[in-house]
Amino acid sequence: MAGTKTFPLKLAYPFAEKNGCGREAEIIRRTEILWPKEKNYTSSVRRGQLIELFRGRGIFDKFLAECWNQGRTKPGKSQIRQKLKILSDYREYIRQDWPVPLKIKSTDRIGKPDNGIRQASFTSIPAESNKPEKVSSVNQDRKKYLHRIDSRKEKKEEREPVYKRSMHRGEKLPGIRISRVVLKEVANKLIKHHKPDDWHWLGAGAAVSKKDANKFFLGAILDYQIPAATAWENSRRLTEDIFNNPDDIWARVTSCSKNDWMSRRTKYRLHRFPIAHERVWRIGNDVVRDYQGDVRNIWNNQSAEVVLKRLNTMRVGKQISQMILGALFDVGILRCGGDVKADIHVRRVLGRVTRGREFDLAEIPQVVELTRKMHPEEPWLLDQQLYLLGKQVCFPNNPVCSRCYLSNECHWRQQ
Ligand code: SF4
Repeated sequence: MAGTKTFPLKLAYPFAEKNGCGREAEIIRRTEILWPKEKNYTSSVRRGQLIELFRGRGIFDKFLAECWNQGRTKPGKSQIRQKLKILSDYREYIRQDWPVPLKIKSTDRIGKPDNGIRQASFTSIPAESNKPEKVSSVNQDRKKYLHRIDSRKEKKEEREPVYKRSMHRGEKLPGIRISRVVLKEVANKLIKHHKPDDWHWLGAGAAVSKKDANKFFLGAILDYQIPAATAWENSRRLTEDIFNNPDDIWARVTSCSKNDWMSRRTKYRLHRFPIAHERVWRIGNDVVRDYQGDVRNIWNNQSAEVVLKRLNTMRVGKQISQMILGALFDVGILRCGGDVKADIHVRRVLGRVTRGREFDLAEIPQVVELTRKMHPEEPWLLDQQLYLLGKQVCFPNNPVCSRCYLSNECHWRQQ
């Protein structure tokens, strides 16, 4: 098998065991990979992790010599780069787009034979746990491993250019190919086309009912990695069709145990990811415990800063929190809307206009920073039109530039 073309996973685990990193390799093997490309890339993510592990331990060359001679050839080297790229994409995905912080939870004793052992999986971290963590050599090794990965990421981030807070005359943002004047013009056009948004069930602004506010909040927390329309419709369906429109939907959601709730996933069909279904129950518990089952208590008579902090505490997710804040601003409940929700449409349009290509997931901080510079008073006001252009004219393939009011300024159009 040493001559196999593909990185040999089957040889890598025993090799790791023989060379003193069996536990780390076992964690890699048992960790569930959750992302939309999982069918194609699950094993690639694991291969990337193993390459990283072996390199970190200084045994990668030994691995190539003993198990994978092809890894020294040109196609082998390109495969290594590809696996590491997929791993980095995956990490960006769980860091940027997944609203729930993820952590490996081991539910078994690693290192024992497979028979009858439950799989370790990614699970959400409880908001606050009073249970003292068990100190074991497995825990410590796992911590060290995760810490190493984090510190590598931090070092990389330190090397990356950081945007300056203010923009001076004639200054261009790194990577942005249009001038400051044109950028301002783009912002003006987006603001000019901004229309008051019709947020689901929030139309009454400060007078919104408890029932409607709860329905809105449920739709918002479902609104990721599925079409927005599906998220809002699923919130309506669960509340109105399945639960008969109660005032306090959270009491209904949390009236059953977590296992019961998970067993109803296929019946309720709220989201394609099990973890998204689970987080409805988790957040529901927070709403019941901290806000008496009424999400209006999160934001009524509070500043945007406090609301954002509360949403963060509930682990609603950065981008979704941003959207909730923006929606509350749009309907007049909050005075400040904050940053844009840098979703795929916003990233595509802004990237094409300003530099001729889309911003990817890893570049969300740049998108946020850029919109802050474009309209420092209220970046959120740029969100709606960027989103609508992306959805209605600036398609991933064949954008209809003739119908786009940014075509004169758009770098993608001009190149
Ligand atoms: S001009 Fe074309 S490419 Fe540029 S933002 Fe508009 S639709 Fe997209």
